[in-house]
Amino acid sequence: MNAVPEISLNNGVTLPALGFGVFQSAPEETVAAVETALATGYRHIDTAAVYFNEREVGEAVRRSGVDRSEIFLETKVWVSDYGYEQTLHAFDKSALKLGVEQIDLLLLHQPVPSAFERTIGSYRALEKLLDDGRVRAIGVSNFTAEHLKMLIEQTEVVPAVNQVELHPYFSQRELREVADQHGIVTQAWSPIGGVTFYPDTIGWGAKDRTSTLTEPVILGIAEAHGRSAAQVMLAWHLQQGRSAIPKSVKPERIAENFDVFDIKLSAEELAALDALDRGVRNGPDPEAITPENSNWPIPEA
Ligand code: NDP
Repeated sequence: MNAVPEISLNNGVTLPALGFGVFQSAPEETVAAVETALATGYRHIDTAAVYFNEREVGEAVRRSGVDRSEIFLETKVWVSDYGYEQTLHAFDKSALKLGVEQIDLLLLHQPVPSAFERTIGSYRALEKLLDDGRVRAIGVSNFTAEHLKMLIEQTEVVPAVNQVELHPYFSQRELREVADQHGIVTQAWSPIGGVTFYPDTIGWGAKDRTSTLTEPVILGIAEAHGRSAAQVMLAWHLQQGRSAIPKSVKPERIAENFDVFDIKLSAEELAALDALDRGVRNGPDPEAITPENSNWPIPEA
């Protein structure tokens, strides 16, 4: 199997481009899923305080037998912990649940446009944690180009990563270009378009969704390479220099999603995938996030 491509972050830290997501992985499924992922070869796990499974991620890391130093652990501070002091404490909660001294990448999970000064306060706490060596890199998630601009103007450290909804139906070209200009790595959530097909149990709105997995253009490319639609989408991200963090709790899919490093899409195939963009987001609108509608308290460790 070819090696996992690596991405150098803007502070020199190395990120394995393909990681493993655990959003909506029930706590009781998460230990097994993450252990399987680590046994398969994944060395980058993406979780979040608000997924309520950091403890299980930590348990899987310990059980895996893989040395902690070989695993890139990424987690996110939730909105109810925004503000400088609250975010310093949010780090402690996450680190204790994960059972680690240091977190590799800590992100602000959402911008809060209606209370952006609190978002800035939280980011300053991330800068402090970086300075103190408690985290190796810091970043954001679900930031638009405008949010990135406002953040960069008011803070010292340019985020290493912006993790955003990104799949062939919503490929965020302009946001990626802005991120590139600032040296910010774009990381794709729902990289195989999960948000276009998984059951809408999380209230992200009843939408006229079309599954990326049934898209004829993707299926055509998949057939030409003798691979699956999911594998083609992951190869598209990796070849375009993005990080991607597919989620699965099924061992055969965990393996399938990792078996992508030898796929070489042609320039025409990449362009055909780019052309599928519909410019319509399926996940929550970052402009609409407020402290009130995101008030899910994060328990103490
Ligand atoms: P994905 O694009 O990773 O898709 C996951 C869905 O696809 C699940 O329903 C999974 O089901 C299914 N699946 C996985 N592999 C395959 C396959 N090879 N063929 C067919 N179906 C497959 O979507 P996510 O939204 O989960 O995004 C990935 C990760 O991104 C999350 O787990 C999380 O870590 C992060 N994320 C971050 C967000 C943010 O706001 N920052 C928002 C959403 C996600 P099954 O498990 O049954 O295999």
